[in-house]
Amino acid sequence: MTENVVTRFAPSPTGFLHIGGARTALFNWLFAKSLGGKMLLRIEDTDRARSTEEAIAAILDGLTWLGLDWDGEPIFQFARAARHREAVEQMLAAGRAYRCYATAQELEEMRSLAQAEGRPPRYDGRWRDRPESDAPTGRAAAIRLKAPTEGETVVDDLVQGRVVIPNKDLDDLVLLRSDGTPTYMLAVVVDDHDMGVTHVIRGVDHLTNAARQTQIYEALGWAVPKMAHIPLIHGPDGAKLSKRHGALGAEAYREMGFLPAALRNYLARLGWSHGDDEIFSTEQAIEWFDIRDVGRSAARFDLAKLSNLNGHYMRSTPDDELLATLKASLPYLPGGPEAARRLDETGRWPALATALPGLKERAKTLVELVDGARFLIDARPLALEPAAEALLTDDARALLAKLADRLEGITDWSASAAEDAVRALAEEAGVKLGALAQPLRAALTGRKTSPGIFDVLVALGREESLGRIRDQARS
Ligand code: GLU
Repeated sequence: MTENVVTRFAPSPTGFLHIGGARTALFNWLFAKSLGGKMLLRIEDTDRARSTEEAIAAILDGLTWLGLDWDGEPIFQFARAARHREAVEQMLAAGRAYRCYATAQELEEMRSLAQAEGRPPRYDGRWRDRPESDAPTGRAAAIRLKAPTEGETVVDDLVQGRVVIPNKDLDDLVLLRSDGTPTYMLAVVVDDHDMGVTHVIRGVDHLTNAARQTQIYEALGWAVPKMAHIPLIHGPDGAKLSKRHGALGAEAYREMGFLPAALRNYLARLGWSHGDDEIFSTEQAIEWFDIRDVGRSAARFDLAKLSNLNGHYMRSTPDDELLATLKASLPYLPGGPEAARRLDETGRWPALATALPGLKERAKTLVELVDGARFLIDARPLALEPAAEALLTDDARALLAKLADRLEGITDWSASAAEDAVRALAEEAGVKLGALAQPLRAALTGRKTSPGIFDVLVALGREESLGRIRDQARS
């Protein structure tokens, strides 16, 4: 493609940036980037009752977090109503639109009749050819498209193929309501044209709209952009995606501790594929993306798969980068702000950095990473998990008392010195190393599993370690 590609993401700000919207944005973004083009952002805020500032903020925030940047300033659709009316004037002047004075009651009658006859509801065209002199006084008109009644409208879709809709199935749609407000169908066409959009990439639920919009383009004498209607996203059980499946806003994925790069990778695979590649960088996705490789069947969203992929990203992210991401993410994670405050207070950020290589091996999400680091975050006396509690038998607690005395005597607080002390005591007491090391772990971390216990002793430092051991020791 040699033309200058312009795509757009056009969310309606009636809710958050849900996973389907994020995937649509990603495909527009990948397509534009892969061809050196631009992706624009248009906020379709014409539904005044349902559009909110909060949703607009959440959408911008969600896109930014996902790393999907747009070119230029966002365009707000509602602000362009005058321009939409201008386009209608043009169609009226060209005889491609007409004033319709049908009342709400008449329209209702058309609907019930259609229903009774088992046809889809449609406007019967009663004002299509009536002269303006018939216009009832004092009644405002809606303006309808004078749509072709014969032949067919063709959408040459880059994903769905050639879609042919007989024109007799498409009625004269309203362009401007009788209160003068533009309809969604009109606004999309005028905005896409004015924004220079070359490719419209959106969910397949808009395919019928594509035929209607094509008729509006033709009435305006404008070139129709290329269209790509991408398959919907279903849950792993094949049913339409619902909250139960993870049809949540982008911010929910941030709160669940997913990395934006992992989510981008995962979303790219929802409907698009490049051979058998499952794990790839965003750069590779840009290089490989071809809209013709988007399939037609519904994609399946699987939270467990996303978690596994995220785990892979966590493990392969360099430690310093992962630490920076964790720091930036803590404000959004459950208990995160509190954890950040504790790490600041205790000065244990460096200890966390040291423990990170081990912790990230066991964590699929940032939330799990924080959980693994709880021993660095929680304050004394530690709450013990039941499995840890079970390790702390009377004998074990007695051993811990002795161990505390030994450790007290260490002059150089290091992993090797601590290890020597623990081994020596286990030997003297005639127990296996584990019989001492496991209760020690329970006392220091409140858990049965943790990073290497001698590293934990070093990470916590002398005073805190001894405090935690004495909290559990009994002589
Ligand atoms: N605002 C529409 C939506 O959120 C998208 C319209 C379009 O992409 O043409 O579903």
